Amino acid sequence: MTNVSDFKIPIGLLIDLSETENEREVLDTFARWIPLIFDCKRAAVGLAAETGIRLFGVEDGRISQQGEILPFSDTVFAEIYSRRASLIERNLSEDSVFPDLRRMAARGMTGALMAPLVVADRCLGAAGAAFTDNRMFSDDDIFTMEAVARSAASYLLLHQQVAELNAQALTDSLTKCYNRRHYRSLAATAWNAWTTDQTPYSLAFLDLDRFKSINDTYGHGFGDEVLVATARSMRKVARDQDVAIRLGGEEFCLFMPDTDQDAAEPIANALRSAVEDLTFTDQGHTVRVTTSIGLATVHDALGSPGALAKAADDALYLAKKNGRNQVWLAS
Ligand code: GH3
Ligand code: MG
Ligand code: MG
Repeated sequence: MTNVSDFKIPIGLLIDLSETENEREVLDTFARWIPLIFDCKRAAVGLAAETGIRLFGVEDGRISQQGEILPFSDTVFAEIYSRRASLIERNLSEDSVFPDLRRMAARGMTGALMAPLVVADRCLGAAGAAFTDNRMFSDDDIFTMEAVARSAASYLLLHQQVAELNAQALTDSLTKCYNRRHYRSLAATAWNAWTTDQTPYSLAFLDLDRFKSINDTYGHGFGDEVLVATARSMRKVARDQDVAIRLGGEEFCLFMPDTDQDAAEPIANALRSAVEDLTFTDQGHTVRVTTSIGLATVHDALGSPGALAKAADDALYLAKKNGRNQVWLAS
């Protein structure tokens, strides 16, 4: 439990935070409220990322990401983040310990109020306000900043966790490809673009050849390795806009938005040969795999995204039937 104090945190801030849907909206809310609560023009937020602290500056109620990523040491943001302790700086000067405080002093700032973005047992970064009017801070000022930082931090964590779960829900854990759920949403979007402005798209359905016998001969773990390597090959062959999907088992799809058949065909051929070029070893001898591919591109006679998938599936069936290790174009 925290001590009860008579500091006040505006209900409007809490309501605005509760309406945020992502990290950006939390930062915007912070940028709107900090100048109102503390009667200041400048504020900043530092969010811890893998490589350092992403710094956002607030000016005139607007927040924008600064170019630099701060290191995890030797800055006031890093200090507050790692110690999880607030700071009242009443006499900013060019002799201050940290380079970021010295920079603030050089830009005419006289004081700062900073607090860690703490939520439960986590710290996500640091937030603060800066002043130019030599004001004397009270304890309530720092309590208020801590409360604002904690409130913002709980929503930042919530949005980070939701984003992480959403990403997991769309990803296949073995191959790190997207899964069928994501495929369906891509198909809906691409179909929409096709029906509204005739932007074509293509699907290459892959099915590894005689994969059951790979499992039977070399074991399921070996089979898993083959699936992971196939996925890696797909990502190598894919262009930036293409999406590698594991539809299930040993079946994959390379989803090619904004791609007509002429553009899709060489990519499907490159995929087939990339899989054929993979080599695996089991007890000293080399194992290879091949894949059959059904390629289909959207056209006027199709009535739904499902019809295009069926066309790719039918083409895949014919690739198998006609000897495997080949690309078959849907009619
Ligand atoms: P075809 O050339 O006709 O496609 O023959 P196939 O053996 O590849 O086809 P079949 O559908 O008979 O076998 C697919 C095999 O894929 C059977 C199943 O055990 C295996 N499989 C499905 N999911 C996984 C997985 O996650 N890991 C491994 N190792 N094997 C899997
Ligand atoms: Mg299969
Ligand atoms: Mg197969």
